[in-house]
Amino acid sequence: MSTSDAARPLIDIRQVSKTYITGTFKVEALKEVSLQVRAGEFVSLVGPSGSGKSTLLHIMGFLDRPDSGEYFFAGHPTAKLGEGRLAAIRSRMVGFIFQSFHLLKRTTARDNVLLPMVYTGLGTDSPKALECLRLVGLADRVKHKSNELSGGQCQRVAIARSLVNDPLVIMADEPTGNLDAASRQEVMEVIRDLNSKGLTVIIVTHDNEVSEMTDRVVRMKDGVIVSDEVRRPSATSAAARSELPPARLGFSPSEFSEQLKVAFKAIWSHKMRSALTVLGIFIGVGAIISLMTISEGFMKSLLSAASEEDAKKVWVTPRWQHGKPRRRFTLNEVEALRARVPLAEKITPSLNRNLEISAGDKRVESTVNSREGYDPAEQKAKRDYFENRKVEGRFFTRGENLNRARVAVINKALAKKLFDSGEALNAEIRIKGITFAVIGVADNHKAEDIFGGQPTAYIPLTTASKRVFGSQRLDYLEVTAPSPDEAQEARRQIITVLREERGIREDAEEDFEVKTFETQIEMFKSTMGKISAVVYGIAGISLLVGGIGIMNIMLVSVTERTREIGLRKALGARNSDILSQFLIEAVVLCVIGGILGVGLGFGLAWAAYFFTKVPPTLGVGTIAFALGFSTFIGVGFGFWPALRAAMLDPIEALRYE
Ligand code: ADP
Repeated sequence: MSTSDAARPLIDIRQVSKTYITGTFKVEALKEVSLQVRAGEFVSLVGPSGSGKSTLLHIMGFLDRPDSGEYFFAGHPTAKLGEGRLAAIRSRMVGFIFQSFHLLKRTTARDNVLLPMVYTGLGTDSPKALECLRLVGLADRVKHKSNELSGGQCQRVAIARSLVNDPLVIMADEPTGNLDAASRQEVMEVIRDLNSKGLTVIIVTHDNEVSEMTDRVVRMKDGVIVSDEVRRPSATSAAARSELPPARLGFSPSEFSEQLKVAFKAIWSHKMRSALTVLGIFIGVGAIISLMTISEGFMKSLLSAASEEDAKKVWVTPRWQHGKPRRRFTLNEVEALRARVPLAEKITPSLNRNLEISAGDKRVESTVNSREGYDPAEQKAKRDYFENRKVEGRFFTRGENLNRARVAVINKALAKKLFDSGEALNAEIRIKGITFAVIGVADNHKAEDIFGGQPTAYIPLTTASKRVFGSQRLDYLEVTAPSPDEAQEARRQIITVLREERGIREDAEEDFEVKTFETQIEMFKSTMGKISAVVYGIAGISLLVGGIGIMNIMLVSVTERTREIGLRKALGARNSDILSQFLIEAVVLCVIGGILGVGLGFGLAWAAYFFTKVPPTLGVGTIAFALGFSTFIGVGFGFWPALRAAMLDPIEALRYE
């Protein structure tokens, strides 16, 4: 080490001025003050209140910047150093001790001492913290929380905290101001002991007994130094470390875990407030999730109900107007379609009415549907399956249809209502006073199963038209194309033929509708889309209100913790550390709301299950969406409060009442 290094003062203040302007009032707190402090010195700054002692200390400790003049620290000019660089210097080279201790509330002595390490980016070192506590005589109070310690003990914890990053200098602002005589003695002895081990110490005090314990007393008055008296020669130590630490980049894992811990602690210590705050997010996310899971479930069950057989189908129905079908179909039209639509492999005309069906003394509002029947061979080939549904018993034949037989196939929904758990097969039912024999019991149609199954009876077409309904008009036609790919083309052919048959002019709208499975799905999607728009609208409002709630509570949280923010900055936190800490808190709040919202949404979907019979599906995508969305809201609405916290001036924050 060169002699110039040895001679170089650790702190070199040259003609530094600082003026405060409050309204029209101007206070010159420092007027061209110059001061040099060498490594190893034990200095006290004394003077009447308002003489500028604290201002000078804050400038020396990089908590504040001078208006003019120069400050060399360890030989380096500091005027042009950025915020991150100054934070690094505070973190690694300066240890602060405050009059009111500024310990974190409800936090153990050990964790308080560990705090400055969080902002070094080098990770925390528990043994080091314990060693510092031992140094101030608190080895037996490591696990005590700040509210379980006396004033003197609190200040000793604060001293241990100031030592933990091996600073070059300790700066103490009235460290004994809040202590009784015995504690004052205790604390001063600890500080003097540290100085005797080579640490530079600068103390601001108005207490003569305190200044008498220091080696050099600098007296101030009205912003200038009026005397500078060396009472004892200090054992000046080796020259200062010459390099200033670089600004820290990014966030270390230990800092991230500290931030999470702080966030959870803040939320947990205000349980009620936090719960009310996340209500909006909870409801908003719940609404979205329930809708997503229900509609996803619907879609899934629709698609799983759909077989290739369904995909081949084309349904021809009358267009409805004022609650009535405009024009039903005739058997002649069916014949025309059979003759002229090559892709219509099979056409099943159907009569369809809602009628009361009875058995014994039970009556059930049901759908009565009619078919032309199947040949026995046809039924065999389908293995007793009726339009993809299992049939217990059999379906009626074409012969029975021509003979107007009084036979019926009923679905399970109707069987259950009429016969409960009794045997339905071979029983008798009555439709419009006509008795029918039940020759088959079919499974409910899967798509209908969603709503528990509509009670339905199937009877032969001619029986229906001639005996029961007294009408030949067909309610709908079910056409089967040779393959699913040809369904659309079959649909076009049907439209062309029916338009010609009915003589509909080219520019006129059809009085019938032709749908394929694909168009059904499209319709379902568009209906769901309309419902979704409403639900998303409500959810959106709820989330907006929730977000504003988050913003509001974060602003409260920032205000409540202003002093803590000041402390963290003094201990080396950058603006970005404070910003991210409050952002994390907002995000944690929102994500908690989001997770609870997923629970709510899923619960609602299960409740809906009792009505819809569609088991809700909770996809990973849905959860990811909810969490991503909550994070987004947290960041969006938490940003402004977090920014306000980050931009707080450390001195003002520390003094905040
Ligand atoms: P001391 O520590 O010697 O009591 P300070 O350094 O705190 O004195 O203050 C010096 C002068 O600057 C005082 O008159 C004080 O009122 C004024 N002052 C300090 N900080 C501010 C501030 N943030 N805004 C306005 N005036 C201030």
